[in-house]
Formats: sequence, C-alpha cells, structure tokens
Amino acid sequence: MKIIFLGSPGCGKGTQAVRLSKEHELIHLSTGDMLRQEVASGTELGTEIKEIMESGKLIPDDVINKVMETRLELDKGYILDGYPRTVEQAEFLDAFLNKNNKKVDLVIYFKLSEQEVIKRLTGRRKCPQCGKDYNLSFNPPAEDMVCDDCKSVLCQRADDCEEVIRKRLKVYDTETKPLLTYYVEKNVLKEIEAEKTIEDIYKDLEGLIKNN
Ligand code: AMP
Repeated sequence: MKIIFLGSPGCGKGTQAVRLSKEHELIHLSTGDMLRQEVASGTELGTEIKEIMESGKLIPDDVINKVMETRLELDKGYILDGYPRTVEQAEFLDAFLNKNNKKVDLVIYFKLSEQEVIKRLTGRRKCPQCGKDYNLSFNPPAEDMVCDDCKSVLCQRADDCEEVIRKRLKVYDTETKPLLTYYVEKNVLKEIEAEKTIEDIYKDLEGLIKNN
C-alpha cells in the first residue's frame, strides 16, 4: 500500500508514521529527515540546501524529485511523510508510479488549527542521539530536557523558532494546500482530526487503512 500523509508542519504526521510503519511493515520515507541527514553529513546536496531549509522555504522540486526517484521502491508499501509538497511534485510522483503500473492508494490529511500547530511546533524537541521525539506541552520527557531512553540533552530544530514557523506555514498555505484539491479530484483523500490524542489518531488511521 502506498500512502501519503498530508498536513501542515507540526500536525503529527511524523509521530504517527513512525508507529504505523513499524506495526504495518511499511517503509517510512520522511523527506525532512532525509534532507536533515544530508545537511548533517555535509554532503554536496546538504551544503546546497542547508540555508533554504533553515529559512523555512522548500527546496526546488527537481532536486527533491530526483532524490525521491532513487528512494521509492516500487514493490514495497510505504508512507510518504513530507512528500509531495507541491502540485509539481505530486504530478512527478503520479507519472513515476504510472510508468511502473503503480499508484497512490490513500492520502490522509491531518486536519489541525493554525493556533495548535504553532503551539506544537514551538514545544517540539528531539533527542539528537536516539532520535526520540518529545513535545513540551503534551509529550514531555520525565526529566526536564533529558531523553527518557538514552539520557542525552534534547534539542530544538533550527527551523522551529517562531519566525521560521510562520514562514513555513505561509509556504504550506500557498504551495502544499492546493494538493488537497488535487487528491480530492483523484478520489483518494481521507481526513482525520489531528487535534485528538496520539492514541486516538492512531486508531483512526488504522481504521482508514483497514477500510481502504
Ligand atoms: P519537515 O521536516 O517535513 O518539516 O521538512 C523540513 C524542511 O525540509 C522543509 O521546510 C523544506 O525546506 C525541506 N523539505 C522537506 N520535504 C520537502 C519537499 N517535499 N519539498 C521541498 N522541500 C522539502
């Protein structure tokens, strides 16, 4: 099954994709994580995109499409988290899959108010060592700013400061939101209420997958 998670930054796509991919044997492809890895490793691509990512803008469509072409294993099921993010990327993905007699089976839209998105993004923290995610408002670590599992000091993403968050939300509105119409027209879009608890959202997701 090929599933796309769609929604604004901070809507909880990543958290759910990690669990759903493990429990349903799907590959989790997070473009944000892949690109941050490129930046951290100092590759040529990483050096090129660092500034763009930190400013909250999207990296160019042809760059991300080329990266994805090498990562989309056609015979496996996966969850795409953070891709596509523009209509041009969605068209590229459709053409790539069609060419290989495959298709997107389900697009799940995580619906969340902008106020809640800002609250979640400013409270988001990550363990730089083991990658575990936290949120100071609804999923805090037991000890202040320390990872429950590996005890490393938690950090905040460079693009999770308020100024860049506002820029990312603007980019989401203009570049990514049109994908809702794109996928409604293709009859594959389903919506979930992302204001709910992590556990309840997970149940809703499993329901959608079983009924698809
Ligand atoms: P995320 O972790 O999904 O919020 O992504 C972090 C940043 O990575 C974004 O603000 C963009 O700069 C870049 N990025 C991630 N996915 C894409 C994509 N599909 N197209 C363009 N840029 C992307």
